[in-house]
Amino acid sequence: MPPPEGYRDRVRCPFCLVDDDKVVDSRSAEDGIAVRRRRECLACGGRFTTQERIVELPLMVVKRSGEREPFERSKLVGGIDRAVAGSPIGPEAVQALVAEIEEEARAGGAEVRSDRLGVGVLERLRVLDPVSYLRFASVYQGFESAADFERAVIELRKTTEPKRGTNRAPG
Ligand SMILES: [Zn+2]
Repeated sequence: MPPPEGYRDRVRCPFCLVDDDKVVDSRSAEDGIAVRRRRECLACGGRFTTQERIVELPLMVVKRSGEREPFERSKLVGGIDRAVAGSPIGPEAVQALVAEIEEEARAGGAEVRSDRLGVGVLERLRVLDPVSYLRFASVYQGFESAADFERAVIELRKTTEPKRGTNRAPG
């Protein structure tokens, strides 16, 4: 979106605190990753420097093939939407889930492996809704047969059912 007409990116003067200045010089800095602007306060004539840099670095997804692509929230949302269709998990819960996974991925650095994203979804769906979990797992893990599904169900039971204590015969 372009800035509104008459917009100027003014910065409050550190000397007189008036929010009215003009840029007198603008140059690229730090090998092009930042821009520095020399500004002059129109109220007191004081000069100061501001710096602009990228705040949010792009998150790259490393696919199984080793290919990299920029993380797209909508893609992940789409995959989960298909898995949760007809389940009690609503669109807001999906958005929250994806936001959580993205945050986790960004905390881990500039790159995330696609299988890490998939596992993140699986971990959460497993807790939220077993049917959605299995649907997502079937697509994500490329299930080919009913046997694959059965194995996943058994795996799911193992991890969700409370462990039973061993029954010892008295005496
Ligand atoms: Zn000033």
